[in-house]
Amino acid sequence: MDDLNNIIKESKNIVFFGGAGVSTESGIPDFRSVDGLYNQKYNYPPEKILSHSFFNSKTEEFYDFYRQRILYTDAKPNAAHIKLAELEQAGKLKAIVTQNIDGLHQAAGSKKVLELHGSVYRNNCMACGKFYSLEAVSESDGVSFCNCGGIIKPDVVLYEESLDTEVVEEAVEYISKADTLIIGGTSLVVYPAAGLVNYFRGKHLVVINKTAPPSLNRACLFIQGGIGEVMKGIEI
Ligand code: NAD
Repeated sequence: MDDLNNIIKESKNIVFFGGAGVSTESGIPDFRSVDGLYNQKYNYPPEKILSHSFFNSKTEEFYDFYRQRILYTDAKPNAAHIKLAELEQAGKLKAIVTQNIDGLHQAAGSKKVLELHGSVYRNNCMACGKFYSLEAVSESDGVSFCNCGGIIKPDVVLYEESLDTEVVEEAVEYISKADTLIIGGTSLVVYPAAGLVNYFRGKHLVVINKTAPPSLNRACLFIQGGIGEVMKGIEI
């Protein structure tokens, strides 16, 4: 912990890159832990249900799964979200690049949050583009329809879909200029998102995760543990 605090003290331009593990302490399961979504039995593998073609062909089944397994409307930010917001407020942290779609960084007060995989808080009609809130989608049954009769689609990046170029470019810009990159709560196996960490050129690379990360292309300080517990120990 001393090592991490020394790095934080020395850093002026920290970027955080995170994934589903950041929100497990808020009660939202990740994908690849033992109690994650990928280790439970469904009619189809989750990556199939969460794909563009499945959304188009079996929209009702997609929405059943989405409401039961992806939406956690009562989840609250945990110690990790809160510490990251405090680091930003203190002028230390410049951006959060997240693979999460749960909006918990913003709920904790973070301002610069780059959502690589979109957000459950944004939903649009595929026909007329009308915006719908999370509640509109979570509280309806079956397929969510717009007033115009069109199908509403959550603004989350499904398998077979590409990332938003502007968000990716901004993330690359922040990561490549950072003096410290903290990677946390991610298996770093979902591409192209995971590849963005390779743009880091700064001094300190820190990984905070429950399990060892895949080999990175440079040395890092690896802290094994729950990210909320670890981040609570950061002194600002
Ligand atoms: P993942 O499930 O592949 O990996 C999660 C990683 O976090 C694992 O290495 C696990 O050991 C670690 N972890 C779990 N709990 C932790 C904790 N409390 N502290 C530290 N480490 C912890 O998730 P991923 O790498 O983000 O990639 C999968 C995809 O999952 C992403 O694209 C993301 O969009 C999606 N997803 C998002 C949410 C969310 O928005 N909360 C939830 C589930 C999945």
